[in-house]
Amino acid sequence: MKMLPTVLANLFSKAATRNYPFDVREPFATARGELINDIDRCIFCGTCARKCPSQCLTVGKEGTQGSWSLEFFACVGCGVCVDACPVNCLSQKPTHRPVATARAVITLTGKLPEKPAKKTETPATPAQ
Ligand code: SF4
Ligand code: SF4
Repeated sequence: MKMLPTVLANLFSKAATRNYPFDVREPFATARGELINDIDRCIFCGTCARKCPSQCLTVGKEGTQGSWSLEFFACVGCGVCVDACPVNCLSQKPTHRPVATARAVITLTGKLPEKPAKKTETPATPAQ
């Protein structure tokens, strides 16, 4: 009897939960969601992969090509990689990826930046 008012209030009030994924909440403006890499600006330095606490990033180099892979369901959206990237090519959308039933990895490839030319020193000619 003591719980009756609570039971009645819950029966006739709006649900406290959402029917996700059919009813998706509007994200907060500062929410950290899907990770995006502007691959044309990426220099494949590997800093993001070394700093990632979830170890869900892999950066590789093969010849003149670089690859950047993200196991996105392992990403916790912390933003550490975004802050660490030296060329600011990483960003996060305020929304999350849609739900899925299988693990997946996205791989982006791009051209490695050209190495700066090595300095060559000409030996000084001895004074005569
Ligand atoms: S830290 Fe930035 S530039 Fe370096 S590999 Fe990661 S995304 Fe590319
Ligand atoms: S947002 Fe965090 S967990 Fe996700 S890839 Fe970047 S460092 Fe890793």
